[in-house]
Amino acid sequence: MTKIRMTTPLVEMDGDEMTRIMWQKIKDVLLTPYIDLKTEYYDLGLEYREKTKDQVTVDSALAAKKYGVAVKCATITPNAARVQEYNLTEMWKSPNATIRSIMDGTVFRAPILVKGIAPYVRTWTKPITIARHAYGDIYKAVEIVTDRPGTCELVFTAEDGEVKKELVHEFKGPGIMQGIHNTDASIESFARSCFSYAIATQQDLWFGAKDTISKKYDHHFKDIFQDLFDKEYKERFDELGIKYMYTLIDDAVARVIRSEGGFIWACKNYDGDVMSDMVATAFGSLSMMTSVLMSPDGSFEYEAAHGTVQRHYYEHLKGHETFTNPIATIFAWTGALKKRGELDGIPELSSFGEKLEKATLGTVEDGYMTKDLAAMSSLPEIHITNTDQFLAEVNKRLERML
Ligand code: NAP
Ligand code: MG
Repeated sequence: MTKIRMTTPLVEMDGDEMTRIMWQKIKDVLLTPYIDLKTEYYDLGLEYREKTKDQVTVDSALAAKKYGVAVKCATITPNAARVQEYNLTEMWKSPNATIRSIMDGTVFRAPILVKGIAPYVRTWTKPITIARHAYGDIYKAVEIVTDRPGTCELVFTAEDGEVKKELVHEFKGPGIMQGIHNTDASIESFARSCFSYAIATQQDLWFGAKDTISKKYDHHFKDIFQDLFDKEYKERFDELGIKYMYTLIDDAVARVIRSEGGFIWACKNYDGDVMSDMVATAFGSLSMMTSVLMSPDGSFEYEAAHGTVQRHYYEHLKGHETFTNPIATIFAWTGALKKRGELDGIPELSSFGEKLEKATLGTVEDGYMTKDLAAMSSLPEIHITNTDQFLAEVNKRLERML
């Protein structure tokens, strides 16, 4: 069999621990036998990040912007324990945060649905994708606690000296205060990513905020979305037969629960933090969530939503059998390959991505799965597989399809 040829390399961002082990296995078993895999490789494993003073992370993000499609393995975000464990000279920043700030993107998270693993919400038959704004609001807040009465004011001094002032509250006793902000540039880039992603995936886009209460702050989000939509995206949405809808966040929540899924839900930063955990949990499992970072200029970075699965890695180091679920990491690869195929006009590559996804889901639907899924599956007959056995089962089905 001749291998599928690629023209543009994928930006490959390798990572840490158990996911790094699975990364190599997925390539060896499911990709390189079938594809003449072209990648520009960046080692984001913590040791090499340390060695390059984290320059490798910056370089990989710039490469993602240059080539347009990247696939990333989960990486360790260092904390004090990791600084000791890896003998780091600095507590390097989260690679995802570094990449996000360079690509200026929005993260879209979507669950992988498979028969036998039913979402807790009965009506959800299609995935719900959460788009979370990744800048500002309470994540950049300043706060004050007072133990005595006093006056809290919001003061803005413009560059030209003009001053705007609002009374926040006259405190008669102890209390708390918070100042938050966002910028038009960030909201616009968020809105653009959402509209572009809706077009790319041909799904409706919902955006919810609380403009009835927050008549300036939240209303501003609503206006920016609506203006951009009317001016630049409405025509394309109409052509594709997809819709953009703004609604109050509380109404959005009610509609989401009653829906059948199959749309993108754009959320302000805090709402997205909370709602993505709710949606992920309601769909079943962390090991079945995919994540894609899309920049407003149309570059994509695909990854699994879970971390490096540290506990399993320590088992692996002790020589024990591991049952880590590779599905979300496989889907990161298929997402990237399909996108590369689409951009470069290589239908065999996109079709390979689709077949690999089908083979993966087919394996679970035939009853072969890792322990995390076995615990949730309603299938009558289940064969628990370790990671290697699972990949081999997927490969059997993939071979038959090719
Ligand atoms: P985690 O790696 O997501 O794992 C948490 C737990 O979830 C695991 O111990 C396991 O539960 C279960 N799990 C997650 N993925 C699984 C899979 N594919 N198959 C089976 N079970 C799975 O989170 P963590 O242990 O809190 O974090 C480990 C490291 O990952 C940290 O250093 C963190 O900084 C990093 N991290 C990276 C990213 C990223 O790169 N995007 C995201 C999050 C965290 P059981 O132990 O019960 O089996
Ligand atoms: Mg959270």
